[in-house]
Amino acid sequence: MGQISGKVVVITGASSGLGEATARHLATLGATLVLAARRKERLDLLVDECIAAGGKALAVKVDVTEREDVKAMVTAAVAQFGRIDVFINNAGLMAIAPITMTKVDEWERMIDINIKGVLYGIAAVLPVFEQQNDGHFVNISSVAGVKVFSPGGTVYSGTKYAVRAISEGVRHEVGANIRTTTICPGAVESELKLGSSDAESAQFVQDFYKQAIPADSVARAIAYAIEQPADVDINEIVLRPTQQDF
Ligand code: NDP
Repeated sequence: MGQISGKVVVITGASSGLGEATARHLATLGATLVLAARRKERLDLLVDECIAAGGKALAVKVDVTEREDVKAMVTAAVAQFGRIDVFINNAGLMAIAPITMTKVDEWERMIDINIKGVLYGIAAVLPVFEQQNDGHFVNISSVAGVKVFSPGGTVYSGTKYAVRAISEGVRHEVGANIRTTTICPGAVESELKLGSSDAESAQFVQDFYKQAIPADSVARAIAYAIEQPADVDINEIVLRPTQQDF
């Protein structure tokens, strides 16, 4: 098997949910972590936890919709740890509402975070991967990137289909030594369910998430992809709560 211990792993959206659980899990497996999000105080606590457990970690305040923020974070990661082995494009927003409500501001927000944020991550780290002739993208899509989550999730689904399309194109284009994994989770416990402003949709989401599985289920799937030998590229993992019918 390959290994996780000693790998430098960047995680966007590490201040809660899947990103936070993945940081904790990879820390126990010996990864060096670069944790990015806007709520820096939460990242600082996580960094303290990793360091107290004998690991190495760095917190960077990043808004993934700001291209320069993402670039500066990659520069800081390389300055501190010398390389980046894995870049987990995880930050995301899910704002559910019927398309007929035309919540255009929320559509733009989801496109900015879920699509452009991922592209800024790829743009910032790809030159590092190319120079190392080694690297691994892990992009978080969704079951909503495999099936259209409608009514209500049409634009969210659009962003998550985009993540899958971009991941597959990156895999095909970037050459033989850079790996690309897309993770497509179903309902997972996190703060994501709180992102909808329409009361009826928010209630639907709350009910749907009663079946949610813990965030460390996704952390284990990500670890599985990372720990494969360098010549094995796990391209896509879809995981759901067993009882989820969608
Ligand atoms: P959370 O809401 O718990 O976490 C979202 C994370 O993204 C937070 O750390 C948040 O940090 C960060 N984030 C949001 N906007 C920005 C921004 N502009 N710049 C930087 N960071 C940002 O949700 P999840 O953990 O569930 O979501 C993680 C990913 O998993 C998302 O891409 C989501 O679409 C995907 N996903 C989740 C599923 C689920 O059921 N939970 C199912 C399928 C996919 P901060 O606010 O501090 O910036």
